[in-house]
Order: sequence, then structure tokens, then C-alpha cells
Amino acid sequence: MIAVSCYVSMPCIAGQGKGLYVCPVFVRHVFVRHAFMMPLPSRRPVRVQACDQPGATTPEPPRPMPADSARARNSRPAPALPRLRVLLAAPRGFCAGVDRAVRVVEEALKCHGAPVYVRHEIVHNRVVVGALAAQGAVFVEELDAVPVGARVVFSAHGVAKSVPLAAAARGLVAFDATCPLVSKVHREAERHAAAGRHILMIGHAGHPEVEGTMGQVQPGAMTLVQSVADARTVAPPPGPLAFVTQTTLSVEDAAGIVAVLRRRFPAIAGPAKEDICYATTNRQAAVRAVAAEAGLVLVLGSANSSNTVRLCEVAGRAGAHALLLEGPEAFDWSMLQGETVVGITAGASAPESLVQGLLARLGERYALAVEERRVTTEDVTFKLPAALSAA
Ligand code: SF4
Repeated sequence: MIAVSCYVSMPCIAGQGKGLYVCPVFVRHVFVRHAFMMPLPSRRPVRVQACDQPGATTPEPPRPMPADSARARNSRPAPALPRLRVLLAAPRGFCAGVDRAVRVVEEALKCHGAPVYVRHEIVHNRVVVGALAAQGAVFVEELDAVPVGARVVFSAHGVAKSVPLAAAARGLVAFDATCPLVSKVHREAERHAAAGRHILMIGHAGHPEVEGTMGQVQPGAMTLVQSVADARTVAPPPGPLAFVTQTTLSVEDAAGIVAVLRRRFPAIAGPAKEDICYATTNRQAAVRAVAAEAGLVLVLGSANSSNTVRLCEVAGRAGAHALLLEGPEAFDWSMLQGETVVGITAGASAPESLVQGLLARLGERYALAVEERRVTTEDVTFKLPAALSAA
């Protein structure tokens, strides 16, 4: 009782100048409490300066207050993420022809205001199409849907000769976004036709580029060859022959078809190799390099994009499991299936934002080690049509 009353009535430890004054009553109180195992009333422990003298006791750290607890929890190191190696194919994504086609629509909108009509998807990518639609482009499949006198852009895939004629007849102001490398094939076809050669067009039925190229010559002057099997059986009319190809084919597939045609028709005229463009060739070489190291290759782009689908095929033939993704949101964690090395590429009509978006998604659960596999550097650019570049 004496000890308890002393504890309540007097200060037990107080600063006395530079030293400490310890009340003898308090010392006795502590001794008595320990001797009889009596708990002290709950109080905050006294903070004692750390002492490095031998025999000094370790001070008790302050009990964290609720705010301190939260801070301590936040400052705790996050659990380490598993590592994922990512190999980025280079070149990938936009080519010069796609870049030019997008600029044609943008410039037409800037010069003439919305709406500007675009016949067919300007390039086969819904992100690109959506972004241009948001700026005032209106996408239609046929010219009938374009009001008389309006402005219209022809897509990067090119159009048959009949299309600009129909546009003029309707009083439309037309801008041609056909890729210059597709236009080059159109001119080849015209030359062969003018020379009296029947043309074998190597490409895929229904693709707008094939329809546009076949539409450069009179009906019946060109025959479509889609496969090696077609090349073995095609029966062109007697007389001189030539071949042209779609620009976005698999280099390997096209070479196989051309080899059969040259064997069957040794005098056939054609380009030194084929008409496959630099962008298609380079992206296929890059994805092949990536697929040689990665178990899984994710190809960004649209399913109706010929060169994107070819990238999947090339990666698959090189030994990787290849998946086509329209965008990062289409990625599913189950696709990884335990792979530790993943390749990423994008078709010639897919913007780089899709690649960056996919990397961001992968980074949510993995510590990414990103490496680029570059097979070549591209510096190709194409000018805008004169009617827009002069504006
Ligand atoms: S893929 Fe080739 S042909 Fe097609 S737009 Fe691009 S550069 Fe032109």
C-alpha cells in the first residue's frame, strides 16, 4: 500500500540538470512489485536511451500506434514477382504504307473537315479504324454509301480500276491511300497485260488487295493461284505467261508456289523474287528469330490482317506456340502455360501502343526482362498524295 501511494503521489524519475535523479521511493516500489509479482497498471513504457555499456539492457521499442502500423505494413517489401523473359521482335508494327494511309485520312480530315468517307477499313486494325472514326472518318464498304460530292479515301490495300471511275461518276473527291508498293504491283500487272501475257496472281481469295490487283486488268486476263496444289494444277490459256503476288504473303509459301510455276512454265515472266514487300519480309524474319528462342509468341493484330496471320504461321513453323491477340485485353493468363520466355510481335497495321499495353499487363504479375531481337533497321517513308501534301 505504501508503494502504491508513493507511485501515485510523487514523480519518480525527473530530469535534474544534466543527470537523472531516481527517487528512492520508486526504487523501493519496483522492488516490492517484483518481489510479490504484482502487475503495474498499464502505462507506456519509459523510453531509455540505448546504452552500449556492458550489461545494459536493450530498450523496448515504442509500441506502434495504429497509424504507425499502417506505415509499417506499407513499407514492408512486396513479395518478389516471378521473372519472365520477353523477346520483342524488331521490326514490328506499323510499316511505311500503313503510316501513310493513316496520315492520308488525318490530312483529309484536317484540310476538309469531317466527315471524310473511307472505302473499306483504311488498314486492317480496329484500334486504328476506331481512332480515325473518332476524328470524323466514316467507314463504308461500297461507294453507294458515300453521299454525292463527298470526300472519299481508298484504303491502303488498293482498289480495282473501276472504283476511281465510279467515284468520279458520283462526283466524289477521292484521295488514294493505296500503298505505293501495292501500286507497283498494279503497274506490273498492267505491263504484263499490255504485253499480251496471261497473269497468274499468287494470293488469297477475297483479300481486298487481291481484288484490287485483279481489277487492274480485263476480266479473264488473270488467274488466282492460292497454294502449291493450285500451282500444280492451274491450266492457263496457251500463250505467254507472267506472275505477280500479293505483298503480304508468307515468304516461304510464295517461294514454294513460284518454284512450282517456274518448273511447269519455264518461260513465265515475273519479278526477280516475288512482290512481297520489305515490311512483310522483315517482320517475318524478326518473328522467326524470336520464335527460335521463345516457347510462346504473342502476335498483336487483327484476324483479318493478312500479314498478321502470316506472322502467326511463321512463328508456328519456327517451333513456337503462336497466338494472335487483337489487343492486350484479349490476353489471358492461362495462355502462358508455364512458359518462361515469351516472344511478342505486331502486324504491319498494329500500333505500338498494343505492344506496350501487353507489356504492361504482363508486368502486373511478372518481373519482366525485356530484350529486343532486331534483324534489320527500316528507314522507308512514303509521301502523301500530291492533293494533300500541297494543301
Ligand atoms: S505491308 Fe507492305 S504493302 Fe502493305 S502497306 Fe505495309 S509496306 Fe505497303
